[in-house]
Amino acid sequence: MTPPFTMICTSDFSGLRRGKGVPTAEFDRRCTTGIGWTPTNVQITCFDTISDSPYGALGDLVLRPDPETRVEAPLPDGRVLAFALGDILDLDGSPWECCTRGVLKAAVASFEAETGLRLKVSFEHEFMFDGAATTAGFSLAGFAERLDYIAALSTALAAAGIAPDSFLREYGPNQMEVTLPPTDPLRAADQAAVLRDLARTVARAMGERVSFAPLLAPDIVGNGVHVHLSLWDVEGHPVSHDPAGPGGLSDRAGAFVAGMLRHADALCALTAPSVISCLRLVPHRWSASFNNLGKQDREASVRICPVSAADPQTRARQFNFEYRAADAAASPHLALAGLILAGLAGMGDGLVAPQPTEDDISLWGGDRLEAAGLKRLPGSLEEALKALEGDAALGEGLPARLPAIYAAHKRGEIAHVEAMAPDARFAAYAAVY
Ligand code: GLU
Ligand code: MG
Repeated sequence: MTPPFTMICTSDFSGLRRGKGVPTAEFDRRCTTGIGWTPTNVQITCFDTISDSPYGALGDLVLRPDPETRVEAPLPDGRVLAFALGDILDLDGSPWECCTRGVLKAAVASFEAETGLRLKVSFEHEFMFDGAATTAGFSLAGFAERLDYIAALSTALAAAGIAPDSFLREYGPNQMEVTLPPTDPLRAADQAAVLRDLARTVARAMGERVSFAPLLAPDIVGNGVHVHLSLWDVEGHPVSHDPAGPGGLSDRAGAFVAGMLRHADALCALTAPSVISCLRLVPHRWSASFNNLGKQDREASVRICPVSAADPQTRARQFNFEYRAADAAASPHLALAGLILAGLAGMGDGLVAPQPTEDDISLWGGDRLEAAGLKRLPGSLEEALKALEGDAALGEGLPARLPAIYAAHKRGEIAHVEAMAPDARFAAYAAVY
């Protein structure tokens, strides 16, 4: 049964969806008129505090739903959750400077206009159930334990037009992973947002809780978000692969990857943006810890993924590279916009991809790392924010005031957890993500 209200949501700086419900019967009209929205809402942190805002109590905006994103998701307790994602616009209808979806659309438009190419993107998410773990990583028992959940989440996702590529009992305690199939960037980010909310909502409807927080405790593996990217021409031919290129990357894909690596520090502010995110980005957590390109290396910032087909055409279509220094504290829209702008900057500057590393570079000495241009990712959110604020090339692709407003948002979040003991910090993030 169609629910009486549909929520119109923005995917915000805190990586959460916020918005307002409208009568479902009015939804079509709202797709034209939108609903009122407040600029300072963008400074509401994941902890519901409000960071310094340049807007104060002033100003008005419009949150306009995109009808293609409307979902009526049946929940396992019989309720139906209806919502849609939308764009925040100024009152004259132009995209608002801090709308993450608008920022992603603009980044994609620049990429397509400047390169003549298209991107395909897929998000891979890890998350953990609450409670003591009773099953082993990758085990059939662990999969069987969650059969009802997997079925219920699949049903909810299907209502959103999302068909996961895979579902697994990941290695960490009570950890699951869902991988989504590749699609265009806006749809991929929308689907990443929808997946997180449905995964949490379905769990609650079953009396369970799941968390996508980057790290739930200091001594266990983290919950990563891995973003797979590939380049295509307008006729739909893959152009990322060249068997002779570094790690099999074509010149254009290599330049894109080199751009992501050059901007790695600033990107972390957008892709791994909680105070605890940097604790996941350390060696031997199978996440990412250096600004390196790795071949089939699950600790590289950018990993060249394996291809399994024998014939060259299928290999080229399978070929993709994976950005691993992301987590679900990030807005998927803003994180992906950052990756695309960094890649585009690399292509614009004709950068060349480094030879991929193929061993444990955390064991390399300082001189060897320096000679290879390798260094650790930022050790704190503040360090990443400073890199973002100082990154002129990345900033060029973003609305002029966004880096400063975003940094102020994040500094409010830092201040909120600063005095907490480590355990309280982990618990606080586990509760909101
Ligand atoms: N849990 C790891 C992370 O934090 C990823 C493990 C894997 O799937 O390779 O990114
Ligand atoms: Mg995984």
